[in-house]
Amino acid sequence: MYPKILKSIALRSPVFGPIVIERDRLRQEVAQFSVERGRSVPELSGVMNPGYCHCCRQQTVFEIKGSWLRDQYLCSNCFSIPRQRHIQHVLDTYFQGWEEKNVHESSPSNELISRYCASYSSSQYFEGVAEGTFFNGVRCENLESLTFPDHTFDIFITQDVFEHIFDPARAASEITRVLKPGGVHVFTAPKHKGLRKSYPRARLQGNQIEYLLEESYHGNPVGDGKALVTWDYGDDFEELMNSWSGSTTTTYIIRDRSLGIDGEYLEVFVTRKKGDME
Ligand SMILES: [Zn+2]
Repeated sequence: MYPKILKSIALRSPVFGPIVIERDRLRQEVAQFSVERGRSVPELSGVMNPGYCHCCRQQTVFEIKGSWLRDQYLCSNCFSIPRQRHIQHVLDTYFQGWEEKNVHESSPSNELISRYCASYSSSQYFEGVAEGTFFNGVRCENLESLTFPDHTFDIFITQDVFEHIFDPARAASEITRVLKPGGVHVFTAPKHKGLRKSYPRARLQGNQIEYLLEESYHGNPVGDGKALVTWDYGDDFEELMNSWSGSTTTTYIIRDRSLGIDGEYLEVFVTRKKGDME
């Protein structure tokens, strides 16, 4: 009842009307996709193939455990998922020697990158903890107001974080600030096919969250386990990142089961700060 009234009001608004229409279209597309996925589950689940895993750096067997390959296409050795393997494939291929660089990862969900890198550091955002201080041994940082000095890192990694930030423009600009000249932000975020224009789903008004669209959550390794989706990104994502960061974004996409890279939202984005990497 309540959402229906909201929707009928939103549909009459010149600003929110198109967003609601776009959202419904997207939902339909996802539902359609789910039906197609549903049909293919029996054939997919249990499918295995040999290949090389960039996360554990060895020959392995990749196994499909379910229909949502993004989370269910696992390396049988290190249990990595496709986006993790694709990020490390991009690092290994285009940033050779990255293990010697000053690497920072925001909200890491595993140890896969840290174990190769001598000067690796990471941080998480904890509500109510002072930024720049440590909580249970983990540094607290807010991407929208990082406490690191300018020009600190060569490589800044975020995996599926940008769709959960209220102010991604500030986060992109902050990440650029703490990168050295020529440094790169290497990241993943769901970019929705056929969605022409990105839009926020929720925003902060003072300390209050204002929901522009129905609340949507993804799993979160910290806190209460739920991460609010604040933005849906579409075709203009790279342009937005460029204008927010003042840098240039390159999108890498491959689908290659011999590297265990297949599934939904395969893109790895690399935003490079102007200047030459040392
Ligand atoms: Zn592996």
